[in-house]
Amino acid sequence: MNFLNKCINFAQNILPGGCRLCGMPGRDAICHYCETRLPVMTAACCARCALPLPAGEVCGHCLQHAPVIDSVTARFAYQEPLRSVLIGFKHQQRWPDARVLADLMLQVPPPQTQGLLLVPVPLHPLRVKARGYNQSAELCRRLGRQLSLTVDPYGLQRILPTPPQQQLDRTARLRNLKQAFVADRERVIGRDILLIDDVMTTGATLDAAATALKSAGATSVHGWVVARAL
Ligand SMILES: [Zn+2]
Ligand SMILES: [Zn+2]
Repeated sequence: MNFLNKCINFAQNILPGGCRLCGMPGRDAICHYCETRLPVMTAACCARCALPLPAGEVCGHCLQHAPVIDSVTARFAYQEPLRSVLIGFKHQQRWPDARVLADLMLQVPPPQTQGLLLVPVPLHPLRVKARGYNQSAELCRRLGRQLSLTVDPYGLQRILPTPPQQQLDRTARLRNLKQAFVADRERVIGRDILLIDDVMTTGATLDAAATALKSAGATSVHGWVVARAL
């Protein structure tokens, strides 16, 4: 992206542009009409992986193969019209949307947040350099401020520049992810962590991050994302 485009994008991002979904002029980042169209998870969800459940608290898959992460909260399904906002937020320099997305998350926070340490799912430094920001860290900042929780962007590091996940099959993706994260023992030992990410797809990334945090001595690791792929 050239400098001029960056400037235009920046101006579009900071000026009040009306509804982020339909463009309707107004003060709200998401207008009342669009808010009713958001893909809210209506059914009860599995406490471990956030998939909608017909009954019970934990899904069959999590009962058979318990994930490392202790719980995941996702208020929305990864579907339109929210999906486009999340893609723009992550890939099209729309980092100021962290504010509206975090505010949507805050409408239904995890059951217990007191005392938790907020940690963003990290990108590899090369990815941060290319994109200019880590979208999860942007969410974390807003969430931490609104909930008066400490944010530690250095508790977890991504040490492998993993290739885009979509190009790999599941086995290769998991192998790749397993070595991707390392946590700072001094920062996370004995802490209860709330890992923040924009989108949960299979849960493999959150679980790999939770594994690194627990190996470094974290007492518990919970996840909180804007949206969950179904
Ligand atoms: Zn709208
Ligand atoms: Zn589950």
